[in-house]
Amino acid sequence: MKVFYNEAYTAAAHAFDTTRKSGEIATAMDEGCAPGCEVVDPIDFVDLAEELIEATHAPAYVEALRTGEPYDLAGSQGFSWDEGIWDMAVNSTAGVLAAVDEALATGGSSGSLSSGLHHARRAGGVGYCTVNGLAMAATRGTELVSGTVVILDLDAHCGGGTNELIGGDGRILHLDLSTSSFDSYSPDGDDELTVLHGPSDVEYLEHVHGCLGRIPDDTGLVIYNAGMDPHPGVSAEGLAQRERLVAAWCARNSVPVAFVLAGGYTWGITMDELVDLHLHTVRAFAGHPSRAAREPSVTGRP
Ligand SMILES: [Zn+2]
Repeated sequence: MKVFYNEAYTAAAHAFDTTRKSGEIATAMDEGCAPGCEVVDPIDFVDLAEELIEATHAPAYVEALRTGEPYDLAGSQGFSWDEGIWDMAVNSTAGVLAAVDEALATGGSSGSLSSGLHHARRAGGVGYCTVNGLAMAATRGTELVSGTVVILDLDAHCGGGTNELIGGDGRILHLDLSTSSFDSYSPDGDDELTVLHGPSDVEYLEHVHGCLGRIPDDTGLVIYNAGMDPHPGVSAEGLAQRERLVAAWCARNSVPVAFVLAGGYTWGITMDELVDLHLHTVRAFAGHPSRAAREPSVTGRP
């Protein structure tokens, strides 16, 4: 399974989990912590990423991310601006687009070590989210597949930025299960937002089951925002089980899936523990090979 990442994901000078953890996870993967996975540079998708960022976000905000002016807008996600922020935004978006492309090409799973996406609005960043790669990937997905594109957002916080950007798009179904009301919103159409307060693992996983049950039969692509920040309220084992549930559902229903990391912070846990949490996502999806790998081809060749 290909997982997309390059060093530009960590190009921002502002050191924070969102701007650093992908590098730690890529290193762990290079050291063999996620068998069956290959870390791949999404460089071929950088031009498309720039184009989509310009089409999705307001010109003044895009200019601020590029130049640092005005300073408040350039740092609206909560980071001090430097020129690495633009590189990070473009390459981390390229990774999500590459993962979508790969998932559709194989009919299986792919991912990107991108995080900080779902709060970003058209006109600015919010809550450590710079540009909204979920909304961009989903919109691109509607051009590549027939049927529904599902954004499954299991990050602890609500995806108000995603709702602002794609809420009115009838081809995209946004299913959002949160454990914090930060960035809550009124869902459009069939979109659903559920906020649980202090759920047990059992209650949380029941709701994950419920979300998976609402994915329509005609779904051609799932984009999964696999935040680990329901922890520590939800246990590490509960989140590992969540990842296996989502991966198994996608494999069983032969729905291509592209995942991203999303939230997960070293607040009360070490970076090694945070890396381990995110590796649950990578391992769960790597454990479910693509249709092409599962089924022998007609000619009997690989
Ligand atoms: Zn979050």
